[in-house]
Order: sequence, then structure tokens, then C-alpha cells
Amino acid sequence: MTLQNGRQSLALPGPTTIPDEVLSAMHRPAMDIYAGEMIGVTDSCLADLPGIFGTEGRVYIYAANGHGAWEAALTNTLSRGDTVLALESGRFAIMWGETAKMLGVNVEVLAGDDRRAVDPAALEARLREDKAGTIKAVLAVQIDTSTSVLNDIPAIRKAMNAAGHGALLLVDAIASLGTMPFEMDNWGVDVAVTGSQKGLMTPPGLGFVAANAKARDIHETADLRTRYWDWTFREGNLHYQKYCGTPPEHLLFGLRKALDMLLAEGLPGAFERHRILAGATQRAIARWAEAGAIEMNITDPAHRAPSVTTVIVNEPHDAEALLAYCNEKCGVVLGIGIGALDGRAFRIAHMGHVNAPMLLGTLGVVETALKALNIPHGSGGVQAAIDWIAGEVPA
Ligand SMILES: *Cc1c(COP(=O)(O)O)cnc(C)c1O
Repeated sequence: MTLQNGRQSLALPGPTTIPDEVLSAMHRPAMDIYAGEMIGVTDSCLADLPGIFGTEGRVYIYAANGHGAWEAALTNTLSRGDTVLALESGRFAIMWGETAKMLGVNVEVLAGDDRRAVDPAALEARLREDKAGTIKAVLAVQIDTSTSVLNDIPAIRKAMNAAGHGALLLVDAIASLGTMPFEMDNWGVDVAVTGSQKGLMTPPGLGFVAANAKARDIHETADLRTRYWDWTFREGNLHYQKYCGTPPEHLLFGLRKALDMLLAEGLPGAFERHRILAGATQRAIARWAEAGAIEMNITDPAHRAPSVTTVIVNEPHDAEALLAYCNEKCGVVLGIGIGALDGRAFRIAHMGHVNAPMLLGTLGVVETALKALNIPHGSGGVQAAIDWIAGEVPA
């Protein structure tokens, strides 16, 4: 027996649910890349994206996923033999560091822990030791999607300033942009990267890099630059230069529609929606966790992400059986545990185009799976989520 048939519910932390309006906006023939509607879409996306990042700097659009955006940020600002410091709080800063290493950069990891945020005091102490200024960039992730930790980017910048260190601050906002505040200029972020398929509600395939004036100055002498990622080439006047080749036309029409939807809701409205949906998820999990079989990965509530929640399933209970039940019996696709949590966790995404029935449906299915699999859990998780939403969303 299965209740899987019907519209599949995608609760993955990327790709996220694509709005029907975005899908429809892409349904069109290929078009001229030298004149006409495509040019206006490029110009308007390039005009709106800096506001989403909170910067007066420039944004570059790549036909690439987040990994490509990582490489773009690195190659445009670093040189062979430079050293970068990756701030560990899960898998993603580490993988960004691995990308830098393959490019010929020395990578040091500020060791962290999968259950808590980066410690700004540890960063400050490490930077104070670097009197020669060997470290050229700090790689930080705002929300690490593997652990669902939320790092405090302003505190990370304050630690760098307190140490009097001149390194660039490069931030991965792939799982956070569009779901919570990101104030690139106010926070002193030099380069920020994101992808299309998470908070921006667009199919996978676009990567974005925002750069401030300091990063663009350093770019002038960076020797890891390559033609495809190069900012200078992309600043040229010809439309094809903005993409270093044929624009990913359909994705751009999808992006345009997604930005229209995000701006119509208003960024503060979108952030508030994510905050409330995350709070509902956390309250359901807190109830289920009372029986000890499952627990929230991030221990400090202040460092739990508004876009995704990672839940550990303790031995002898089986996270993979829970994931399979949700998918095969109930049509809900959750995120699997990754990195150190491989096989031991599930992740609930509440990221992007998600509303109350989608989230309550997902939570209801998780509670159903806990019951069907005889995984001990406190009762009333979904009720706790309902109570929270009713309190936060007055009539
Ligand atoms: C998804 C994700 C990435 C990788 O993006 P891809 O598009 O899969 O290459 C990097 N960092 C974070 C924080 C992410 O959530």
C-alpha cells in the first residue's frame, strides 16, 4: 500500500519547489541573443540582484551551479600560492576550501564542529597570529545545509576587524539568500555567492557572485583568473560577454519571474515566512525528540537556520527507513544526512516557495513515519507546529 500518488512534495534543501509561474515563464522558444527581449531581461536581473544581496557592488551571473559560483569567487580574487582560511561548521566551507586547493591555493581550516556555529573568538585569535597577513581570504558559509547551522556573518566580520586583519571575507549565501537578511555592504562582506535553486525558486543552473569595490580592486592582479569566470570580460558592453557566451536564456526568464515574485512579497515578508515555518518545524521536532530517539542537530536555538533543519536519528533507529517511508509511502522527499551525518539524519527544507500547507503536510508525514516505523517520539509534534503558526499569524 502507498499514498505516494498525487503531487510529489519536495522538501529538499535544493533544488527547491519551482513555482508554476516560473515554469510557465520559461516555456518559450529560443530567441535572439543580440537584440530584443533577452537584453531587457539581462539588464533588469542585473539591476535587481544587487538589492537582493544588499550591495552597491556588482553581480555576475554564471551558467553554473553553486560549485561554479564558488570557483568564480576564488579565481577572480586569488593568486597561486595564496592562503585562505575556511571556517568549518559542516561540509560546505570545507568543500569550498577543497575547490580552492585544486586551484593551487593553500587552504587552512579553522576547525569547527558539526553541531554548532563558527566561533568568532577562535577566528579572531587565529587572525591575530597571522601578523604577516599570509591569509588572503576567509571562506564562510551563512547557512551550512548539511548541519543546518546559521553562522553569524556580522560577528565573523567583527572578529576580522578586531584582529586588524585585511583578508577578504567571502561568504556562501547559497542556502540563505532570499530566506533571511543578508546585508553584504553593511556587514562588510567582500564577495558573496549564491545559486538559483534554493531561496531564489528557480531551476538549478544559475550561479551568482556579488563583489564589492575592494574585491574588484584585488581582482585586477589575481592570477587565477580564467576566461569563463573572469569579471573583467563580463563587464564588457556586448550582451554575450555578460555570460561569456550564449546566455542560459530560459533560466533567465525563470529567474526574472522568480525575482518578480520575491519582490512582490517583499524581502521582509519572505524572511518572516521562513522564520515562522522554521519555528513550526523546530517546535514539532522538539516534541518528537522528547522520547530520545531523534534530536535536533544544532543545539543552540540561536544558530538554527530558517531555511533547513537537520535532525539526527539515534541508534538503533534507522534514518534511511524514515526517508524511504516518507518518499515511497507518502510522496514527500526529505533531504538525506550528508557528510558526518551520512545515514544518521534527515533534513527538512523549508526554503523558497513553501507555504503553511506544504510544511504542515511534510511535518504530518514525518510524524506518520515515526509512528509507522515504531520510532519512539513525543506526541503532538504537528499540533505544536499548528499552535505556533496560529500564534505567529493572527487573524
Ligand atoms: C547547495 C549548496 C551548495 C552547492 O550548490 P550546488 O548548486 O549544488 O553546486 C553550496 N553551498 C551551500 C551552503 C549549499 O546549500
